[in-house]
Amino acid sequence: MRPTGKLHLGNYVGALQNWVKLQHSHECFFFIADWHALTTDYDDTSLVGNNSLEVLLDWLGAGLDPEKCTMFVQSHVRQHAELHLLFSMITPLSWLERVPSYKDQQENLQGKDLLTYGFLGYPLLQAADIVIYRADYVPVGEDQVAHVELTREVARRFNHFFSRSKSVPLLKEPQVLLTATPKLLGTDKRKMSKSYGNSILLSDEAAQVEEKIRNSVTDRPKLTDHGSPDRCPVGNLHQIFSDRERLVYITEGCTQATITCVECKVLATQSTDAHLGEIRELRRQKAQNPGLLKEIIEHGTTNAAKVAEETMVAVREAIGLLNVAEVAGLVRKQSDALRLRVPASIAGAKDDEERWTIRTDVWLDRISKTYPLRKDRPRTFITLRGRKVGVHTASEKNGGWKFSFQDRSLNVLVLLAQDNDLYLHDYVLPPKILQEHWKRFEREEKKIVVVVRKSPDGNVLLHLGEGVPPIPINQYEGDYSALQ
Ligand code: SF4
Repeated sequence: MRPTGKLHLGNYVGALQNWVKLQHSHECFFFIADWHALTTDYDDTSLVGNNSLEVLLDWLGAGLDPEKCTMFVQSHVRQHAELHLLFSMITPLSWLERVPSYKDQQENLQGKDLLTYGFLGYPLLQAADIVIYRADYVPVGEDQVAHVELTREVARRFNHFFSRSKSVPLLKEPQVLLTATPKLLGTDKRKMSKSYGNSILLSDEAAQVEEKIRNSVTDRPKLTDHGSPDRCPVGNLHQIFSDRERLVYITEGCTQATITCVECKVLATQSTDAHLGEIRELRRQKAQNPGLLKEIIEHGTTNAAKVAEETMVAVREAIGLLNVAEVAGLVRKQSDALRLRVPASIAGAKDDEERWTIRTDVWLDRISKTYPLRKDRPRTFITLRGRKVGVHTASEKNGGWKFSFQDRSLNVLVLLAQDNDLYLHDYVLPPKILQEHWKRFEREEKKIVVVVRKSPDGNVLLHLGEGVPPIPINQYEGDYSALQ
């Protein structure tokens, strides 16, 4: 929701009421879209901060619970802006120009210069807002369906350019969760909107609610006119807030002109304020505790940023942007065929047991992952082509590395050898070595034992056992072609 001021009943029945229900059935992310507010209100930003707090208070008053959903302020999670920028690189201009609200809003908001880059690009920022949380659904009304459709197209285009796997796309295409929104006219019979001055606010006091309803335009200019609650702002309030009995009573009275609008308004005020009173009271309690508001925002931002950053790590990597943590590794082996990445230096790692980590890109047909390795626990992976790859680790001892393993159904053997300078060498032994020499491997209590040694002339030799000539394996260091 854009923080353009306190929320009114139209915002409540159009979205917020539904959000309060959804927080119990779904994992929800709700944010105050302060950057979006700037797309139309960039010439006076003096209230955007304060309005953000007002919106949060309205949310809390309406029943959003920080224990059940994540609430945050958009500009606090910078990853939205980053993904928006990356999306802007791949999105054709025509896609944005044809979004229906682009032209509509320019016509409706006469007097504002909306020929700005930010206004044209706001559906793209929305796309980033959604996709960054890998959202399954976006709860929207009919008028927002086109925006979600654009989001899906942008995600698809991004996947087309950057997803490595066709079967598991990098970015998720969200679905719409269509919400039937009850009709609610403003007190002057136009659409309820703050800019028309025809709205009832969630935070209005009882006397203000009473006055607004009392002065509301109705559908019966004369007492003898027959009206329709559907076309009347007061009738709409009954349809939303009155119980069935009262709704039947005023509907008959209105259509048959047997009640007065004055009586109808009094009843509407009672029904509406019974509901708003609870919201107002909860809102008031929350407003008295600024520490709580700060905590809610900080907690929400931490939750949201964690999920957003996970997406961005995958996005940056898929695009191929330089990751400074990997600079050493990249310089060491600039190979297009790279499928396994071993940090070049592990000096300074704290945890001895998990000091070796490898990163696989496409072995498991997913986005890249980091796997910790333990000395005593080899790992087995399956590549995209179904190859079984065993990864074994050893530290240097007496000038060599001793590896032991059991599984003879491996297709590829990866030996990670850590030297005394804490540098990792990765030998990826192709299937032919295993097939040719399997029988010769030395056995020790059902395990197969091999030793890797560096010879004085710089060769690296794989020793299979006594009587078997050692196999030079220099050529296999960092050569991942065996995994393709
Ligand atoms: S009777 Fe009620 S619903 Fe009908 S026009 Fe009057 S105020 Fe509106």
